Amino acid sequence: MLKPPAGAEPTRDQLERWDREIVWHAFTQMAEYEPLIIERAQGTTLVDIDGNEYLDGVASVWCNVHGHRHPRLDAAIREQLDRVAHVTSLGTSNPTTIKLAKRLTELAPEGLGHVFFSDDGATAVEVALKMALQYWRQRQDPRPDKTVYVALGDAYHGDTLGSVSVGGVERFHAMFQPLLFEVLRTPAPDFYRLPEGVTRENATQHYLRALEKLLAEQHQRIAALVVEPLVQAAAGMRMHPVGYVRGLRELTRRYDVLLIADEVAVGFGRTGKMFACEHEDVAPDFLCLAKGLSGGYMPVAATLTTDEIWQAFLGSYADSKTFFHGHTYGGNPLGCAVGLATLEVFDEERTLANLVPKIARLEQHLARIAEHPHVGDARQCGMIAGIELVADKQTREPFPWHEKHGHRVCEWARTQGVLVRPLGNVLVVMPPLSVSLDELDRICQAIEGGIVAVTEA
Ligand SMILES: *Cc1c(COP(=O)(O)O)cnc(C)c1O
Repeated sequence: MLKPPAGAEPTRDQLERWDREIVWHAFTQMAEYEPLIIERAQGTTLVDIDGNEYLDGVASVWCNVHGHRHPRLDAAIREQLDRVAHVTSLGTSNPTTIKLAKRLTELAPEGLGHVFFSDDGATAVEVALKMALQYWRQRQDPRPDKTVYVALGDAYHGDTLGSVSVGGVERFHAMFQPLLFEVLRTPAPDFYRLPEGVTRENATQHYLRALEKLLAEQHQRIAALVVEPLVQAAAGMRMHPVGYVRGLRELTRRYDVLLIADEVAVGFGRTGKMFACEHEDVAPDFLCLAKGLSGGYMPVAATLTTDEIWQAFLGSYADSKTFFHGHTYGGNPLGCAVGLATLEVFDEERTLANLVPKIARLEQHLARIAEHPHVGDARQCGMIAGIELVADKQTREPFPWHEKHGHRVCEWARTQGVLVRPLGNVLVVMPPLSVSLDELDRICQAIEGGIVAVTEA
């Protein structure tokens, strides 16, 4: 074997310099970027190039499910590698891809019998948006005027232009306004900052009434409504009141509007059930999946849909009803192999049943953390927590965003060996579902310590 020339391996300092100067990191101000280079991982623990260990408190940004280097998942990829690494989904297939599609239709809410694979959450949403529009144009009784979408305030559906169009996070999306298509907004439920006159008891009704008004006026031109059911993650882990998603389903049915459920963040056990829609017995017209679908290993995404939608695309080639859309790596067998193994591990390790004590433990930590004078709200949905820091607990006045309180708490937590990422002034707890109770304690204690250190400094 040829040996690489001596000195070919970069030094530690070279890696850091190249990381600072060459690699352009996502959602990162590179002028202020401080490299943290993770070399390996095991379970919930990440290890950097200096051998420092960190608990992965945000599941490598909301995607890791069963831990890093899980033997079953590692083996699934190796076994697939011995057969074939990639098969195009343009006109060909692969047993692993087919098996994952079948398994997803068995697990998903009723009626979602067809699966379109892509490679990321944003693409899973793009697929649903385009399919919805094309469906209205070519179904038996065509409705070509249905070309507009409804989305929630502060929504986040990914960073491609279609998903940014339906997105509503001012700081991320305002810049690109000239490129975006028209979207109608319905206000996002905000339990912590309810509008004047709205109570926790009537919040569901209030927000559904706002939507109904919009649908009643404009349903003729609305193709679909897109929502992150139960938790609007990037908005700061904002949570929907009970009955809201159920109400969305009823209203969209009544007004002939398709419902797109973006479960990219909340799917695969995050909320305590396999899919968030199950909490409200909702079957959407489109279910968008990514992040946890591969256990957090590979870029795999899927858009599930109904037979009603599927039928509208059938015909001879000359009918031109084909869905002219695809991503080179959609349905990639390596990704599907680890996706299939991820779902098997849910059964083998009874992942959902084992979450019950962890969800209870997280609740205990949040109850204590909520007492802190600068914690305005500590909200939870299953294994998702958002701890909102405020300058004034009485008035709920936020800390100015540029003071980076959330970021500073996370920096402090890092000194305790815990890696977490904030959403502005909201601290996020979202470890792999395989986290142990002890590890969960350490993650919450590090955040709590950080809150004390930063707000009392
Ligand atoms: C992360 C996320 C996306 C985008 O997924 P990518 O894989 O980053 O493109 C879309 N929707 C929701 C709700 C997300 O949390």
